[in-house]
Amino acid sequence: RDRVVLAEVSKTYDTPTGATVALAATDLVIEPGEFVSIVGPSGCGKTTLLQLLGGFLAPSTGSLLVGPDRIDGPGPERGVVFQAPTLYPWLSVRGNIEFGPKCRGVDRKTRRAAADRLLDLVGLTDFGDKRPYELSGGMQQRAQIARVLVNDPRIILMDEPFGALDQLTRERLQVELLRLWRSAGKTIVFVTHSVEEAVFLSTRVLVMSARPGRVIVDRRIELPDDDG
Ligand code: ADP
Ligand code: ADP
Repeated sequence: RDRVVLAEVSKTYDTPTGATVALAATDLVIEPGEFVSIVGPSGCGKTTLLQLLGGFLAPSTGSLLVGPDRIDGPGPERGVVFQAPTLYPWLSVRGNIEFGPKCRGVDRKTRRAAADRLLDLVGLTDFGDKRPYELSGGMQQRAQIARVLVNDPRIILMDEPFGALDQLTRERLQVELLRLWRSAGKTIVFVTHSVEEAVFLSTRVLVMSARPGRVIVDRRIELPDDDG
């Protein structure tokens, strides 16, 4: 149903100083329920690939599909956690988290309960009434993750979501993400600088290289039957 298919997808950025092929023609299929990590050096096209999947960039060639539908913009089935926090500064943390549900007409009580659960999940229970600028960068990142998860997207796209976090918070959120993925059957595409993180979290690792950006390794990771 939510199979993601890229056919001959490429992205070239045209700039005054010339064109950069950020992603060479790429064929890729991501099955529902896969947890895919993307690793590779800076500039190899990881963010570009994620933005294409999110519908925030249009491909220069080729097409992207989710199930039968062509990706031609952001969609509610895809939640994107950007590299830099993008919270609304005029709303409280809670307001930011409740914004999506509110737009969808979810009633106040249900919204509050969902926000409480997610504030707890990301360890921000005591900060719901603060404004984003009152939070540290890592806390803003956690708030952003909560704001995406509250919408219950079936496909979660994350661009180095834990990069700015301290070790303890990172490990906590990694475990929560794994739990969510296992219990809710989400598809996750996760960009990281850390091969260790990729191997720890995912069922499949894509390694990219630059000039031009392309996938050079596509490896499924076999998990033992009982990996408790
Ligand atoms: P990272 O390697 O951590 O993904 P980068 O520093 O490569 O971060 O890029 C961060 C963002 O800045 C990219 O997602 C892209 O939108 C933008 N960017 C990167 N390179 C350029 C460039 N040459 N011109 C304009 N924007 C760029
Ligand atoms: P990564 O996330 O792996 O660091 P990016 O997708 O950010 O890689 O960038 C891939 C290539 O495209 C890099 O050479 C980068 O400089 C270039 N690039 C990224 N965004 C832009 C942009 N908005 N304009 C021009 N070049 C860009």
